[in-house]
Order: sequence, then C-alpha cells, then structure tokens
Amino acid sequence: MSYIFKENLVSSSKYSIKCPYPMKPRYVVCHNTANDASATNEISYMIGNNNQVSYHIAVDDVNAIQGIPFERNAWHAGDGSSGPGNRYGIAVEICYSKSGGAKYTAAEENAVYVMARLLYQYDLGIDALKQHADFSAKNCPHRIRDEGRWNSVKTRVETVLQAIKEGRCDPKLSSGTTVILPPYSPDDESPSLPGLKFTVKVICNELNIRKEASFTSQVVGTVKKGEVYTIVEVSNGLGRLKSGAGWISMGTDYVEKVKTDSSTESSDSFSSFTVKVICNELNIRKEASFTSQVVGTVKKGDVYTIVEVSNGLGRLKSGAGWISMGTDYVEKVTTTSSSSSSGYQVKIVNCSVLNVRSGAGTSYPVVTTVKANEVYTIVDESNGFGKLKSGAGWISLSYTKKI
Ligand SMILES: [Zn+2]
Repeated sequence: MSYIFKENLVSSSKYSIKCPYPMKPRYVVCHNTANDASATNEISYMIGNNNQVSYHIAVDDVNAIQGIPFERNAWHAGDGSSGPGNRYGIAVEICYSKSGGAKYTAAEENAVYVMARLLYQYDLGIDALKQHADFSAKNCPHRIRDEGRWNSVKTRVETVLQAIKEGRCDPKLSSGTTVILPPYSPDDESPSLPGLKFTVKVICNELNIRKEASFTSQVVGTVKKGEVYTIVEVSNGLGRLKSGAGWISMGTDYVEKVKTDSSTESSDSFSSFTVKVICNELNIRKEASFTSQVVGTVKKGDVYTIVEVSNGLGRLKSGAGWISMGTDYVEKVTTTSSSSSSGYQVKIVNCSVLNVRSGAGTSYPVVTTVKANEVYTIVDESNGFGKLKSGAGWISLSYTKKI
C-alpha cells in the first residue's frame, strides 16, 4: 500500500477565511469525510469555496493531498474559534468513508502512515493522536467509531511511529512508500574493539544516519541503497561511519557485509547451512528481493537448508525460492554431525577482532580476544557459540568459517 503526496494549497488571499491563525501543532486529528469523494476532489472543493470549513490534508487509496499549511490552523474540530482542536490540531480526512469497502480500507491504511509521519514531524507522541469526537460532540471519524476500531487505528499509527523512530520507516510525508523493515535483533554482537574495520553495502532503499549510537538519536542524514561504507566501531546494533557523519543500523535487513578478504574467499566457497523458522509464517519469494512475488510460505519450527544468501534472503535448497534471513524470522541450526568429540576447525572471518567470552552468549564477560584469519578447534556448540578446545572460552560462530 502506498500513496502519492501532493500539495494543492489554498490561496493566501483566503487565509482569513480558511486558516487565519499561525499554529504550532499539538494534535493530529482523525476524521472520516462521510462521503465518497476522492482526496483530490475534497481538497479542490475545500480550497475553492468560501465556507469556513477547512482541513489540512485528505487521504484516499491513491493520494494524500494537502490543502492548508500545517503551521496554520483550520476549522474542522467543531470546538469554536479558540478551541484546541481548531487551533492546534492538524486535520486528516480519510476519504470514501460513506460506502467503505476496499478503497476506504486502502485510504485508512495510507492515513495511518500520514498521521504517524505528522506526529513524528512535529515531535508529538501517540497521545497527541485525537478523534474529531474528542473535541466536539460529532460522531467522527464515523466509520472507525461505528466499527469499534479506534484503538486498532491508534495501535497501527503507534507501530509506524515507532518504526520511524527506529529508522525502519521513511519519516518523510512526501516519501509515499509504506514499507516497514523488521526490527533489528542484536543476537550477534560484533566486537567493538579498537582496530575493528569492515565494509558494508546498504541493501534497503534508504537508511538513517544518526548522531549517536542509538536508534532514537537525532537523524542527521541518510544513506542509499547500493552505497558502500566503512564501519569503524559497532555499538547498540549501530555502526559508526568512518567519514564521521554518524551511525547507521547494522541490521542484516539494511546492510550486508562486503567481503574484503578476496585472497581466501571466492564466490563458489559458500557453504550451505541450516535454519529453523522462528516466526509463525514466513513468505517464500521467487527472487532474492523483499518485493519479489510470494510463491509460498514456510511455518514456525520448519527446518531448511540454505544454499545461497543475497540481499538478506536465503535460497532454499529445494529450489522453492528465497526466504528472509532476518534474525527475527529464522535462526541458524548448528549441525549435529559436527558434535563429535574430536571437534572441528574454524577460521575467524568477517571481523578483525572477535571476543572470547566465558560462556555461550553475548551476556557473558569477555575474557580475551582472537584475531581475523586465526584458526581454532571448536569442541562444543551452544546458542550459536563455539567452545574453544583450549578451554579459553566461547566465540560467536557467526564470525567463523569451517575449514
Ligand atoms: Zn470530522
């Protein structure tokens, strides 16, 4: 689902009728139009007449059309010339509410994104999302209220707002796209030690650069799909750009590590591995792209062999297609055949320094470190970690390669 954002702003000669007061928004106010006109028609009618009634933006299944500047008031909440709804609320009209149906459902879904983005733009929390009925005795948004879905709408807006704050959804009202990327799951803690340096390629359309190593830190810029960056430090699941511009998510759905050790790696050296599905249902896609056609699903608890990884998706050995390798959806299964008492050898890869911990997990203290290209014997596996034969401790097997 997506929308195209357009402005069709009222002439300033009509400000005295439609939007006389400057406004610092405190609320986003949800309305249903109670008719079956398109967003384009709603706005052109509103800005073309000389009635006081006005609203900032109308959303349908295709478009989000803005008619009043967001930093001027509009007359939509029925609470009078000094009422908080009329004086501090951005009015969002959801179209096609009279008859409902698929066009209304799509309009409402687009409006969820519009409302979340407006809250974010004006630094407002979910409690600033209001209904017209919160300000005056009108049953509006009528369809949402009649169907008892206000809490559901609010929850959906909150979900998008949270995704925006975490860099998983484009915050710009004009971006239109409504893709939310899955949350980052920090199950593989990269070592954040001096000397760490590796290269990543951005695999999502756009990714926020944040000032600090926190998903709620200020956004200071963006990086784009296909761009390649050197990361010099990792903290809280974000990586610091060598350029000094800031931090970007290290989530495996957003970036992929670029192999730099060309001397020892070649494309045909990929070894297959086994994953278990840990979400209820996961799409199988035809190609290695999250927008590729869905050709089937896999279910929680199913185990599959992956023979190739690309763009954050893994190719099923069966040939059925590709599934997400997101750590919220699948987990690697350690192969039982390697659990013989003699152990097996691994080489440290994809990092320059790797922590050795006292137990099999990132919550255990670091006791020492090992370095890239060193070779160790693993005698036990647990939780994605391997126990060193030397007895020194455990290392994350995500940064090793069997030899
Ligand atoms: Zn209303």
